[in-house]
Formats: sequence, structure tokens, C-alpha cells
Amino acid sequence: MRVFIFTVLLSAALSSTMTAHSGGHGRGPVSTFLLSNGRHVHGSFHSARGSWIILEQRSGALKAIPLEQFSSADQQRLEDEIGRITKMNAPVEAPSPIVVQTPTSGKDHSTELALIACALLLGTFMVTRSTSLRIAGTAGTMLLLFLSVSPGTTARIVEILGPTPPESIDSTFAAYKPRVKTRWDATYFYVESNGMPTAMPAMKGITAWQQQVPIPQPYTGSNAWAIPLNPVIADVPVSLDTALHTGAVAIAVNGVPVFNPENNRGEFSQDIGELDAFGGHCGRADDYHYHIAPVHLTPKGTIKIPVAWALDGYKLYGYEEPDGTVATNLDQHLGHLWNGEYHYHAIDKKPYMIASMRGKITIQNDQVMPQPRAAGVRTFLQALKGATITDLRQCDTNHFALRYEVNGKTSFVNYRWDSTGKNFVFNFVKTDSARTTFTYTRK
Ligand SMILES: [Zn+2]
Ligand SMILES: [Zn+2]
Repeated sequence: MRVFIFTVLLSAALSSTMTAHSGGHGRGPVSTFLLSNGRHVHGSFHSARGSWIILEQRSGALKAIPLEQFSSADQQRLEDEIGRITKMNAPVEAPSPIVVQTPTSGKDHSTELALIACALLLGTFMVTRSTSLRIAGTAGTMLLLFLSVSPGTTARIVEILGPTPPESIDSTFAAYKPRVKTRWDATYFYVESNGMPTAMPAMKGITAWQQQVPIPQPYTGSNAWAIPLNPVIADVPVSLDTALHTGAVAIAVNGVPVFNPENNRGEFSQDIGELDAFGGHCGRADDYHYHIAPVHLTPKGTIKIPVAWALDGYKLYGYEEPDGTVATNLDQHLGHLWNGEYHYHAIDKKPYMIASMRGKITIQNDQVMPQPRAAGVRTFLQALKGATITDLRQCDTNHFALRYEVNGKTSFVNYRWDSTGKNFVFNFVKTDSARTTFTYTRK
């Protein structure tokens, strides 16, 4: 069965949307809004949807920006406007979830027809964006609701989701700038970072250790992380239990990649001593990455930001919703529609996060593409039996010391690199043997 997908710009059309005009095009005066990052946007207030403000630009294009991204003066101005319109408008029903499940078995042509009618209806008002907009939106939603209560519902899903405004992605990385750099084009939002852990002591507590340590990675330029700006629901979501055991499946808001909770042998890293308290460890290229959602990145209080962005374009939150309430009603992918957006959540047991990639992805060699490459400087080592990492200390800007114990004996890996980021020196200090020093140059 096909899945109907309507990609609509944050669907100004739904009846849950509050619009500034009760009929007709009625575009308001174009004004300039100041964002909290100092940038300006031009447009007229079109509607509010959840915590998103939809601005209509001169070209007629709609732009969605989270309310919290506006300067406080403009937030106040927009809230006043919303209050004014709420008073003006008659109460509108607000069906927030936009998922409809309809029968997958049997020959139910009426449902087929209804869905097609629904598609045409939605398509029509999208094209015209005219006076029929709200009427069609309401009719479409009623139709969706009607379908959703039909008996024997299972797998067919109709969803109305839109492109992700790059500004809304950008705001989620704000806390980790300038160590994380961002930019975007029409297709992807790019994240540049060196992938180093931001919480210390990283690596501490690992008991299954391959002798790798975190070194900076060149996730920059054409090797940057890429988050799709136009996520599309996949017909067949890819399971992380059977695929994607190589490379990252998400990029955390601190610029550290997030891998499949299962390692490349299909074991849950979290359950076998491979991870530190933050859910991270290092790969063969001395590349630090997480294997579970880095929930420690969720700030206390305030509005919750996602902890990462999955490489299919959907957010990954910790255990809580953006408003601080505990997440419930997760689907089999460990995600759900919430306030008009689809996102994933962390859970504290297997499979920990993102059971399958809900969005369309391109896979090559068992990895999501595009996928930046980690770059090691030395030949990878083997697991060190009986070792426990007891500390990782940053001694200087480009200088770290990792401490570990084997059979009660303490050893260190003392390592540093020069300002070019190319030349590395590793000192291996063991209690009862000589200190050994190796130098490496990154190609
Ligand atoms: Zn790993
Ligand atoms: Zn949620």
C-alpha cells in the first residue's frame, strides 16, 4: 500500500491554525522582525501554529519561525497580535495530531476514494491559497478525522509535514557555538565540528576499551554533517536492528555524532561496558561518538531543545517534550507527532532511541549518506582485557591525559597535537615499563 504524503509548508491550512484573516487573501502590512540572533526577517503575520509563527513574505511564500527565536520585544508584539486575533475569531477546533490510519486489508474503495478526494482537496487549497483555504482545511481535517475513526485501522498513514526552517535548526546548536559552525542551502543544513566531547570526564567508566582516545576530527567543509531540510516520511522505515551499523545516524547539538545503539557486531554498546556516563566512546579513528541519545545535553528548566538531529531530518529529544512534560505515546520507531512535528525520543531501555529511521534516507555501505568521514592518525588497536578507564583530563588546549587501570595498576595515554591539527604526539606511560612515545601526522 502506498503512503500518501503531503509536504506542505507547515500547513497553514489546518483548522487548528489560527489565521489573521477570516476570509480572502487579506495580507497584512509587511513589517520587519528582529530575531534573537540579531538577524532580521521581513513579512506579515500570517498565522500561528503551536509555538510557530508563520510569516507571509512579499513573494507570497510562507516562512515558519519558532516564537522563541524572535527578540523579546517582537515576541511580545506577536503574542499581542495572536491575542487580538483569538478574541476576534470564533473558537476553532484543534485536532493536533495529523496521522490518519485507514484499513490496509480488504477492498475498501470508499476509503481509497476518500483519501484521493482528501489529497485533491488539500492540493487545491495549497495551490490557490485563496478564500477557500480555511474552509478546505477544515473540511480536509474533518475528512481525516472521519477516516481516523473508521474501524479496523492499521498501517496506512496520511501525514502533513513540512520543510524544516533552517533558522529553527540553527537555534538548537546555539549553545555550542562557536565550537560548532552551521550553514545551509536549499537541501541541507550543515554542521561543522571537531567531534570532541563537551562533557568531562568523557571515556571514564568504560570497561570494554579498544585503546582509542578522543582526537579532533575534520568534520568541516565538504566533510560536514548534513541534515535534510525537507524530510519525507519513508514508505518503509529502515530498522536500526538490521541496518545502519556503520557510521552515524544522528548529529548531536554539540557536534558529536550519534551512532546506532547497536555496535557493528549487533550488540547494544550501552549494555556491555563500552560507553562512558554520557553514552560515548571512541571508534577506530579515535573518533568520539555516542551510541545512545546524549540526554545530558538537555538543559535543565527552560524550553527543551532536541539533543540531536537524526540524519533523516527529524529531531531526537531526550525523555521530555519541548514543554518539559514526559514523552508518551511513542510509535514503533520511538517517535511521534507532537504539536505538528514528527520527532524521536530517548528511552532508558533497549533499543534506547530511533528504532527505525522514519524519514527517507539514502544508504550506501550500510551508512546514511551523506556521511562525513572520521580521520584517524594511527593504526587502530585491539581491546585491552581487564582495563577500566578512570579519568580523562584536559591538561591544556590541545593536550589530554587518559588514565586507566589494569589489575590495579595505573597507566596513562598522554597525547597532544599542534596548532595545525596535523601533528600528534602520544606518550604511553605504564607503571612497570618504560615510557614510549610515538608521533603521527594526519594525511
Ligand atoms: Zn562506537
Ligand atoms: Zn515528543
